[in-house]
Amino acid sequence: MAKDLHDLAKKLCSPYRVVEGRKFRLKDIDPAGTGSLSSKERAQALLETGVVHLAEMQDKLYAQDQWALLLIFQAMDAAGKDGTIKHVMSGINPQGCRVYSFKSPSAEELDHDYLWRTSQRAPERGTIGIFNRSYYEEVLVVRVHPEYLKFQKLPERLVTKRLWEERFEDINNFERYLTRNGIAIRKFFLHVSKDEQKKRFLERIELPEKNWKFSLADAKERQRWDDYQRAYEEMIRNTATPWAPWYVVPADHKWFSRIVVASAICEALEEMDLAYPNVGPEKICELGAARASLLNEGPVRRPAAKSSAKKKGSKGT
Ligand code: ATP
Ligand code: MG
Repeated sequence: MAKDLHDLAKKLCSPYRVVEGRKFRLKDIDPAGTGSLSSKERAQALLETGVVHLAEMQDKLYAQDQWALLLIFQAMDAAGKDGTIKHVMSGINPQGCRVYSFKSPSAEELDHDYLWRTSQRAPERGTIGIFNRSYYEEVLVVRVHPEYLKFQKLPERLVTKRLWEERFEDINNFERYLTRNGIAIRKFFLHVSKDEQKKRFLERIELPEKNWKFSLADAKERQRWDDYQRAYEEMIRNTATPWAPWYVVPADHKWFSRIVVASAICEALEEMDLAYPNVGPEKICELGAARASLLNEGPVRRPAAKSSAKKKGSKGT
């Protein structure tokens, strides 16, 4: 990436990057913030450039087949997870990217440990994996609704006051393990305000083309807004690490959250120093031989075209 673009991407996303959460406070990040960008048009133009650059890096990631990138998206309802994923990843090759949306766990999933369903879907080398919600729900919705724990059939004596602390510890260790295996992780909390969520819910109710997006369950969870905000803050405080940072992204302006996310993804891929694999002398010999053989084939003979008169007259045999 050109140096000025690289610097701009860094400037856009670094204010929202949390690598050490102990002092983190959610109220320090304004959901309506737009950083150093004041115009939507400028952000859109930048996003277009970013998407092209992302596609170039993804091609190298795939060819090199060593690193993988896991992107985790968490947010309150209507914060724009789906739209962000759609716009930011719009230019990339679908063959090298998979998106998984994690909903309430199934009976089979509840029969396993809570990391089971997500760990199977960690991205393969050379690819990008996107988790639309993730194992973080285990310290969010389950924390706000501890009654869900009973569906998990944990042995009673393991459910202690330290449960959440233990989950943070296990998640940090799991992420450490993944990153030590070449799977880089970036986590995004799309931070929307309560007012903006209300506006978006009303839109879903009022606009027929958005009706399908409205869910009564989402509106019900809104009543627990403060509990969720506390759970998110605690989660970030305990799981922001240098190897798997959180980005707390202002999400009241979708155009701003998208450019912040795109910048952070570009930065993560840049850190991998991606390059097309160099071929060794043996392969170069092979390429030379294949080239010579192709050139020696002579002109390709095409079957003679039938005359149009014959075509018209023939009924087909
Ligand atoms: P949208 O933004 O379109 O509403 P969504 O991600 O909220 O998308 P939904 O189908 O509305 O998707 O909701 C999925 C629900 O599954 C969420 O309410 C989430 O809290 C819940 N969920 C995900 N993981 C778990 C889990 N481990 N335990 C309990 N509930 C979970
Ligand atoms: Mg929902």
